[in-house]
Amino acid sequence: MARIVFATGNKGKLKEIRSIMADLNMEIVSMKEAGVDPEIVEDGKTFKENAFIKAREVAKLLKDDIVMADDSGLVIDALNGEPGIYSARYLGEDTPYSVKNADLIKRLEGVENKDRTARFVCVVACVFPDKTEAFGEGVIEGRIGYEERGENGFGYDPIFYLPDKDVTTAELSEEDKNAISHRGNALRAVKDHVLRWSRENS
Ligand code: IMP
Repeated sequence: MARIVFATGNKGKLKEIRSIMADLNMEIVSMKEAGVDPEIVEDGKTFKENAFIKAREVAKLLKDDIVMADDSGLVIDALNGEPGIYSARYLGEDTPYSVKNADLIKRLEGVENKDRTARFVCVVACVFPDKTEAFGEGVIEGRIGYEERGENGFGYDPIFYLPDKDVTTAELSEEDKNAISHRGNALRAVKDHVLRWSRENS
């Protein structure tokens, strides 16, 4: 049976995908575990383009595996969609998120609560061994808060406020976040494509 190779070096993502895909009963490994590490230039203009750039590049090196890659980021309406596909690189890849988050809060100074709408978006691209493709997209809607709150999660989580729950995503447990997150939703969507492909090719 084909393995799933996820084009990431991020242990957190791998743990999440393993938990969501557990009932597929397929082996899920990282690029490193699969022995590949291609140089990838993410020069797409959308989350979907960047996810497919990564997945196709890795799929070129792996003939028998199902290859997946994701791309995600924070889209803030009042900033015309920034930081968007540049979320990881915003203000510099190595800049601490405390600085990035403070900067975004500052840029939203004077913006009313109702206009602070934002979403995390994730696209998971999938290339099957026969080179057919599928993808799943997931979104979680929220608002940019006025200060950092919470210790969990990573990145922009401390400023991503969920009005319905009165918490930021940094105040949710990992399990609760995965159940509603953009990445969780994208992975659950792509899982249906893997099931279909496996049925048609078994
Ligand atoms: P990627 O890993 O290349 O998709 O980069 C995504 C970037 O978007 C991360 O480095 C974060 O800056 C941001 N991001 C994506 N998902 C989340 C999340 O769940 N919480 C906080 N920040 C996120």
